[in-house]
Amino acid sequence: MNPGPADAAIDQAVAWLLSPDAEGPLLATGDSAAVIERVQSLAACRRMTEGVPCGTCSGCRGLTPDILRVSGAEKPISIATIRFLRTQLALFPLADRRLVILEHAESLTPSAGHAVLKLLEDAPPTARFLLTATLPGRLLPTIRSRCRQLRVPPAAAATLPPIRLPLPTGIGILAAVDSVQAETAAIIGDYLLEHVRRSGPTPAARLALLRLRDYYRVAATGGNVRLATEVLLASLLPFAHS
Ligand SMILES: [Zn+2]
Repeated sequence: MNPGPADAAIDQAVAWLLSPDAEGPLLATGDSAAVIERVQSLAACRRMTEGVPCGTCSGCRGLTPDILRVSGAEKPISIATIRFLRTQLALFPLADRRLVILEHAESLTPSAGHAVLKLLEDAPPTARFLLTATLPGRLLPTIRSRCRQLRVPPAAAATLPPIRLPLPTGIGILAAVDSVQAETAAIIGDYLLEHVRRSGPTPAARLALLRLRDYYRVAATGGNVRLATEVLLASLLPFAHS
């Protein structure tokens, strides 16, 4: 099999996991799903042969307290979750190696972020912390600076076709748009997240996501939806058919 673009990053993550020395936290950015899968399967197995998980031990069947995985994909990661992690780490201190995975760490709430920082400072040397973030700029700088960063390239060098929305091309048409239907907003959100997944958080995508967030906020609070819509649509022009 030809090496994929992410293979070098996966190798680095594996070396980090299996290092006999204490290793600081690793922050994987970009297309980190394959890194998580590989690191988790290696950390789980109790009867690995030459770097290959056995597939049958209790760890491989998912029955291990040695892996703690939390994802912020659906909702923000709360301080309660981090406190739970802390108790879990304290409960089983004898394992050879503990792996804590914090997926989408940019969605840590501020208080949870500070709790994670404390956790990183106090963690036993056998613990490995793998953080992933699509938008690492949203992490606490103090967390970022503690982590070794690993940029994972997209699995395939694919770019999205232009967004298929009836996008206005001029201010006159923009002004005629009264509102974006909820369904359209959801399509815009999916499109932007897919764009970020494939191409990383480009400045245009970041801006559009901020505008989309503003749009939702304004729509939820009964603000000036028309203005928010215009601003949102304008931010999408870099993604539209030219
Ligand atoms: Zn196994």
